[in-house]
Amino acid sequence: MAKHKTPLLDQLESGPWPSFVSDIKQEADARAKNEKGLDYQIPVDCPEDLLGVLEMSYTDGETHWKHGGIVGVFGYGGGVIGRYCDQPQMFPGVAHFHTVRVAQPNGKWYNTELLRNLVKIWELRGSGLTNMHGATGDIVFLGTTTPQLEEIFWELTHDLEIDLGGSGSNLRTPATCLGMSRCEYACYDTQELCYNLTQEYQDELHRPAFPYKFKFKFDGCPNGCVAAIARSDLSFIGTWKDEIKIDQEAVAAYVGGEIAPNAGAHAGRDWGAFDIQKEVVDLCPSQCISYDGKLTIDNKECVRCMHCINTMPRALKVGDERGCSILCGAKAPILDGPQMGSLLVPFMEVNKEDDYQSIKDLIENIWDWWMEEGKNRERIGETMKRLGMSALIDAAGVPVDARQVQEPRHNPYIFWKAEDVEGGWDRDINDFRKRHQR
Ligand code: SF4
Repeated sequence: MAKHKTPLLDQLESGPWPSFVSDIKQEADARAKNEKGLDYQIPVDCPEDLLGVLEMSYTDGETHWKHGGIVGVFGYGGGVIGRYCDQPQMFPGVAHFHTVRVAQPNGKWYNTELLRNLVKIWELRGSGLTNMHGATGDIVFLGTTTPQLEEIFWELTHDLEIDLGGSGSNLRTPATCLGMSRCEYACYDTQELCYNLTQEYQDELHRPAFPYKFKFKFDGCPNGCVAAIARSDLSFIGTWKDEIKIDQEAVAAYVGGEIAPNAGAHAGRDWGAFDIQKEVVDLCPSQCISYDGKLTIDNKECVRCMHCINTMPRALKVGDERGCSILCGAKAPILDGPQMGSLLVPFMEVNKEDDYQSIKDLIENIWDWWMEEGKNRERIGETMKRLGMSALIDAAGVPVDARQVQEPRHNPYIFWKAEDVEGGWDRDINDFRKRHQR
């Protein structure tokens, strides 16, 4: 097996961080020696040729991957991303180098047996190189050949009971935080909702029929461990309607230095005495906390940023009336710049089967509108921007609400219609004129 010279890639191993180049070299060496005695199902020099083609791309300043046609598994329209090398004679080990997207377990809960079994399939039938995890959350298997795809699909779905993830213009693999399985802040059961919607929308996940990709993500609280607000077309973010619960004795214990702030996350460094004014009161973005020996929160001004709760978790707890906010339209900067989600539904309860139905009704209204109005390769956030938030609100079938803004206290970009206002526009404009004597 020819070893490629890789002077440019070698430089990437010299920094202080772990290097993907070292990882590929490790796999190339292991295959060359075949220490495990495997009967590799794809060319044994695949990782070595990957290094070669990468080096050539760096030298030429252009990619040597090309689109070469659609590949996939029987019955699915997504889950495999076809990739071919444009120099197959020089690098036969990566002539085909398809990526397989594998749905991650809910909340990324693995046991070691599952991890071993995943790797076993991939060492035999793929390059042995993985990406744990891709941006959408999938387990990403990097590099295999067309004849191996059905074999991999069969073993994943039948032996491990794991499905392929989404790719192309379809619903992408939904992603959720750990939720109630570990976290006391979870305001709804993120894993249950994620599982339920994943099962419900199997067709949308595997058979691309949308204008472009569509992502759901589920955060149990505004700390946003899966960053739903920035990374999903429809974000479900846990929140509460009532008041933050305060334990004044525990507040006094933080102030007195008996309990370490930030759940002791700063242990090992001397941050000095805890200063509640500096570290909590002054940092509240709404300036709605005060402390004069007793902590008070003006809850109607609170924007649920979580800062005070994260700093004093034993003194402050999220409220009891819990549910989620639903935001629409976040995306990465593919065409029109990055965009955060805009608030569509300020609060919805999600702890009953009935509530799941209202979520599904909302999703399907939005999809119907987007599939009708969206241009090819237009994310829903772009359709929303092009046609206006009010068009999305109409299509979603949710009531107009002054909180449907892009960010708190800014951009109330709703155009109110006469029929939305009690008494109609005429009454309002007449009142306005009378008040201003016009
Ligand atoms: Fe202020 Fe944020 Fe605490 Fe609300 S959650 S009271 S906005 S610091």
